[in-house]
Amino acid sequence: MDFLSFTDLTLFLLLFALFVYVFASVTITILHKVYLTFHFCMMFWPICQFAIRTVDTPKVQLFYLKLSFIDMCLIAVGWLLFTIFLTGHARFLRKNMSILLFVPAILVAICVIVNPNGKFVLPLQDNYIHRAYGPIFWVLITVLIVYIIVSLYLMSQALISDKATRIKTQVKQVFKGITVMTLFVFLDIFFNVVLHLPLPAIPGLTSLGILLSAIFFVIAIHRDKAFDIVKIAHQDIIDTIDLGILVLNDNEVVVQINRTLLPHIDFRIGSRFDMANLLSKGQSKSNIHLFLQTYQTQPLKRTQIEIQFPNERYVNIQTAPIRVDSEMVGRVITFQDVSEFYRLIHETNSQNEILHERNQSLIIKQDELSLTNRKLEKMAITDGLTGIYNRRYLTQKLEYEVMNNIKHQIPFSVILLDIDYFKLINDSYGHLIGDQMILSTVAAIRQTLRQTDLLARYGGEEFMIYLPRTSQLQATFLAERVKSTVESNKMLVKNIPHSLSITISIGLLTINNFSMESLSSPHSYLNELLESVDKALYKAKEEGRNRIVSVVR
Ligand code: GH3
Ligand code: MG
Ligand code: MG
Repeated sequence: MDFLSFTDLTLFLLLFALFVYVFASVTITILHKVYLTFHFCMMFWPICQFAIRTVDTPKVQLFYLKLSFIDMCLIAVGWLLFTIFLTGHARFLRKNMSILLFVPAILVAICVIVNPNGKFVLPLQDNYIHRAYGPIFWVLITVLIVYIIVSLYLMSQALISDKATRIKTQVKQVFKGITVMTLFVFLDIFFNVVLHLPLPAIPGLTSLGILLSAIFFVIAIHRDKAFDIVKIAHQDIIDTIDLGILVLNDNEVVVQINRTLLPHIDFRIGSRFDMANLLSKGQSKSNIHLFLQTYQTQPLKRTQIEIQFPNERYVNIQTAPIRVDSEMVGRVITFQDVSEFYRLIHETNSQNEILHERNQSLIIKQDELSLTNRKLEKMAITDGLTGIYNRRYLTQKLEYEVMNNIKHQIPFSVILLDIDYFKLINDSYGHLIGDQMILSTVAAIRQTLRQTDLLARYGGEEFMIYLPRTSQLQATFLAERVKSTVESNKMLVKNIPHSLSITISIGLLTINNFSMESLSSPHSYLNELLESVDKALYKAKEEGRNRIVSVVR
């Protein structure tokens, strides 16, 4: 062969490199790429076999012969690779394991290329159309057998494993293809190598095997859409989704159960699905009977129900028809575990209840607190024994009232009264009876007062009455009434045979003169007023008690 004869080969190799580049760089799955390589190698065998017979030169014949056996080595490695990818063992190929896979094939391929002393093949009748194989050929066959056995082993393991149905269907198809191909290779070896002398050669046996196996692969690819990414994605979604999916045919027979649902049910593919039986195992807040009726009598209608099963799980069951050209061919039933959702609702409700309870007790506490506050407020301004206002409240009130009256020139009066000879009562009857008499006197005074008058305990048995908008005349009349009411108040006291009565002395102060100067120092002005009413009371005492002494300012 001269240099020119290699031109075409070089061009072929360049074209081949382009082909490899295109499908290596395009976005298809690794499985696609492996399969295409494999298929390419399969196409190579028949063309090389054909080429051997088209040339006369033994050297070129030997070249094609070697090429076809190198290709056979590649096919064997291709099988194994394809199997490894198909059965999901691709992860083992990392860490340069793939190189190891090629080692036996490369070693025999080198031996084939070198063909030392014709140990691989020798020409008969001076050409390689008729040839005798040597020991390297048998080594090559053994290596190929080992590749096939490993491939078949991996596939059989995948078939008995719990891999997805999709993968199993593909593996089954490839399994058939490889078995058929191997069978034909053996037939070829048997008829054309082992029995080669007595009989004429049968051509194309291995090529036929390769074609048949390729047909199996094509069927797998087309009918089962083995390489259809969308279908693979759909199946993967169905198998990994967090939703139980059941597909029934039009006879209610189960045709598919996804992996999520599988552990939770006791029926399998091929069983008849019984919705009523399934529902009888749980209970629902909605009407099971109505759901079943719709399910059975209106199969075209989408329905759903939530069931609580004895294992405390809440499941939402939805049914939908599968239609092909508006005809119903089956149903899809989905099962969604909504327990977590219910648990959250339950938790939220109980938290709400706790919050509500806390709120209620807070409201009660708040009420109690405001009641106590009111009591405290009242206590702060009232006198403990008599329940009327105390001195502090009265002086506070007066501070404001006096100034207001002066500002608006409204006359008002103040009474200061003191029980006469009260020490004597205490000494004669005891403090307790003294207390009762104070109480009785207060009650009597209150009866005589107007609603606007303000009575307060000023000291031990001293009381002050603020009479708003009251002139001296009105005030004197009122003071007289108070004095006589107290005097005529007969008190019956335990263990004392006769009734008791007391008298009071009254200092009465009326303000008619409104000095605006007083507005500048209200506190001292009030003290002045109190002092003068006190003086009036003192005077009443001095003058003989049980009387009223009036002052006007
Ligand atoms: P006078 O006519 O001068 O007022 O004579 P009196 O004895 O009433 O004298 P004074 O007003 O100075 O004395 C008040 C007495 O009242 C002194 C105290 O023992 C008594 N007293 C004051 N507060 C109470 C009280 O709450 N209960 C009782 N039982 N006695 C009181
Ligand atoms: Mg007194
Ligand atoms: Mg007194």
